[in-house]
Amino acid sequence: ATNLSRHFKVGGSLFRKPKILRAVEDVSLTVQQGETLAIVGESGCGKSTLARMLMRLIEPTSGQMTFEGRQIDLAQGRALTELRRDMQFIFQDPFSSLNPRMTVGRLVGEPIETHAPQLSARERRAKVAELLAQVGLRPEHADRYPHEFSGGQRQRIGIARALASGPKLIIGDEPVSALDVSVQAQVINLLADLRDRLGLTLVVIAHDLAVIRHMSDRVAVMYLGSVVEEGGTDDIFARPRHPYTRALLSAIPVAEYGRTRQQIPLEGEMPSPLDPPSGCRFHTRCPFARDACKTEAPVLRATDTAPGHRAACHFFEEIAAENPPPPATEG
Ligand code: SF4
Ligand code: MG
Repeated sequence: ATNLSRHFKVGGSLFRKPKILRAVEDVSLTVQQGETLAIVGESGCGKSTLARMLMRLIEPTSGQMTFEGRQIDLAQGRALTELRRDMQFIFQDPFSSLNPRMTVGRLVGEPIETHAPQLSARERRAKVAELLAQVGLRPEHADRYPHEFSGGQRQRIGIARALASGPKLIIGDEPVSALDVSVQAQVINLLADLRDRLGLTLVVIAHDLAVIRHMSDRVAVMYLGSVVEEGGTDDIFARPRHPYTRALLSAIPVAEYGRTRQQIPLEGEMPSPLDPPSGCRFHTRCPFARDACKTEAPVLRATDTAPGHRAACHFFEEIAAENPPPPATEG
């Protein structure tokens, strides 16, 4: 995705100019085949809007999106059908995304029918059974309805449905945040396992860095519609450079983070994207903000830590030098 933006007009009328909601502003991201990219931020940061644009569920206001050289934003007709076969979406709430009147067999069989109409009913049933086995469900589950399953099982049904077309890329919009903490790890592990076995590329949207720590290769942190930091997951966790990322990491319990670190509190609410702060959009909440931050918007630039690690902060070098992480501890 290159320079993607999505603006929504809000509350316009004949006499009042609509406000422009800049949900996603000038975002550029690349995912390599077989890689897992996590897009992280608080709710309202634009990450779901970004994911929906990639799936053409909503249209970008400007910018380009390509998948294996094919331009997603221009695809029509058959090209769009093929893109929808190759790119699939897993929704946050598995219950509301599954039609309650359809059996699991039909829910999973429907995309097979769309994308492989040549299969006989019997071949299709065999394929449904195979998909259910891949996500850890049993063949007899095909005759049941979504309400008969737990949240974790329903998300497994959603994953089987997403796999039915034989996709190369799966985008998960907070795929585990509606689930009990105890089953979140199971579903995350299932996704990582399917990625490795099927050679999938994953884009996982999350508001919680801890959830994606062990499954993602790279992380992009979003704040108010823009990517403020991106880099390799291990590098971001060990050497975060943007104050917002530092604050998000501070919120993760030490037991899950595995080392002690200084606490950088995240104060206040995220400002409305209808009226974003000037300059650096994080300046209203940043403990390191200076006068220049109010007027000059920082751009993503390379950090000193590892290739591909970039942060959008005027002062990250000084902040890192003055606030070194405490020595790592075992744990
Ligand atoms: Fe904070 Fe300024 Fe850096 Fe923005 S540019 S993150 S306000 S120090
Ligand atoms: Mg969301």
